[in-house]
Amino acid sequence: MMATPSSTLSKHEASRAGQPMTSVQPERPSVLVVEDEARIRELVSLHLQLEGLAPVEAIDGDAGLSLARSRKFDLIILDLMLPGLDGVTVCRAIRRESANADTPILMLTARREESDKVLGLDSGADDYLTKPFGIRELLARTRALLRRGHIASARQANGEAAAPVTYKHIEIDPARRRVLVGSREVELTFNEFELLYVLVSSPGIVFSREALLSKVWKDQTFVTVRSVDTLVKRVRKKIERDPAQPEIILTVWGAGYKAADV
Ligand code: CA
Repeated sequence: MMATPSSTLSKHEASRAGQPMTSVQPERPSVLVVEDEARIRELVSLHLQLEGLAPVEAIDGDAGLSLARSRKFDLIILDLMLPGLDGVTVCRAIRRESANADTPILMLTARREESDKVLGLDSGADDYLTKPFGIRELLARTRALLRRGHIASARQANGEAAAPVTYKHIEIDPARRRVLVGSREVELTFNEFELLYVLVSSPGIVFSREALLSKVWKDQTFVTVRSVDTLVKRVRKKIERDPAQPEIILTVWGAGYKAADV
């Protein structure tokens, strides 16, 4: 059997890979990079550093998940195909139970198949990039996701967000980006929260898929109208009593979606 030393790191290197590559400056947004291919991981980290960001590398899914559990990041770049825990499993676990439940996640996928993309978005990723990707494209997506996360926390810090909205059995607190279903708190990703908030802020108003794309994904033009359906499905699963008989987010056939009139 041939060993492949170039694709694996020694224990020493692996532990070093989990540390920030430069001295820690709190102002620099931190980005967790979970990628088993050393060449890609190092290239991504290098360019993130050149952008003034603080990358933290993880060489597999287990290392990535334990880092995500140990501290808060501003962005997570997560490869889909990883040895051990795969990207989808890691993504779901991060969303379910970690300090990074609402951190933007950019998923890297190796194949172009739509099913991969949908799988990534279904698991709670906010965006995806298909390999091979250009470094400019990666940095553009990174900036867009960081900007969104930054806007959300700035709103939160300045108390700019609107007062809590109570709507049927759910309660939305935009300042703290918290959603209560009955008395149970549910974790929504950035996009899930935006979608719910847009709809519930204007009950009875029908939003086309295109309108929701521009309101939720804003300047990101790579998503398709199908992403809206996927996102609606995910939000329904979290907030509806019976996702098959939705009471909050209603489908308007041939038009789009609306929150039910109160
Ligand atoms: Ca991989």
